Amino acid sequence: MNNYLTPGNPGVFYACYNKSMYLIDSHCHLHDREFFSEEQATNMLKNAAKRNVKQIVCIGTSHEDSLNASAFASSYQNVYWTYGIHPESANNYTINCKKDNKLVAIGEIGLDYHYEGYDRRAQIKLLEQALQLAIDLNLPCSFHVRDALPDFFAVVKNFSELKPSVLHSFSDTKESLEYALSQGFYIGVNGLITFANLACYKNLTPDFLDHCILETDAPFLTPEPNRGKINEPGNIADIAAWLSRKLGVSEGTIAEKTTDNARKIFHIPNPESAEPGARAEFS
Ligand SMILES: [Zn+2]
Repeated sequence: MNNYLTPGNPGVFYACYNKSMYLIDSHCHLHDREFFSEEQATNMLKNAAKRNVKQIVCIGTSHEDSLNASAFASSYQNVYWTYGIHPESANNYTINCKKDNKLVAIGEIGLDYHYEGYDRRAQIKLLEQALQLAIDLNLPCSFHVRDALPDFFAVVKNFSELKPSVLHSFSDTKESLEYALSQGFYIGVNGLITFANLACYKNLTPDFLDHCILETDAPFLTPEPNRGKINEPGNIADIAAWLSRKLGVSEGTIAEKTTDNARKIFHIPNPESAEPGARAEFS
């Protein structure tokens, strides 16, 4: 039994809910018109509903992009958004976040040392600012961290008030995965797990589901069996099916655990009765 306090709406509790037998895409870029037309995005929301993916979180990567995610979320039922500045923009960015009742996290933020030429000190400064914003707004974070986990953990340690947060698209070592779990992070699992043969996901046991949420990162990282096609939120069902086979637990258990985790972290209320793809009603 859980009660949820909705973000931006203190005092309104969502009463006890039944275990969640549907899926959530906790990280996608469906609002980004560089990748998806409005019509394509609307159709993909409908496809998602057909595959039991009932709630979707659109992730901001810059101030402008976050505002687009916000506008998209406010136009459709069961779509939420995050405010983030991707670390690759660390040398030139604006932070000005206005909270509304569909804003569920700060992100994606983090550190990315994968390519040469990015200013690591500037990335750390941006990450620190974004972490403070998350604490000020009482929101969790969705982190993008690549080849930079030691610095990342060292920075985050200084923000002890941070709410339980997500390491999205985790692909580091098994040791790092264990350390992240020991520090209370949730792991965002996407299509990579179905095709990349990553060491960190070898020998997983069902208790991993206590710390796992599902994401597509659409349009990127399309899971098997649709490699080569553009990714979309409905493909969460393929990731859930893959995990079900890998862990030897039912797809219902995967849905229940990962959806409950995502709802808890992001304070997502019960799904509105309309399915994703339905236009929000403006009064
Ligand atoms: Zn992303």
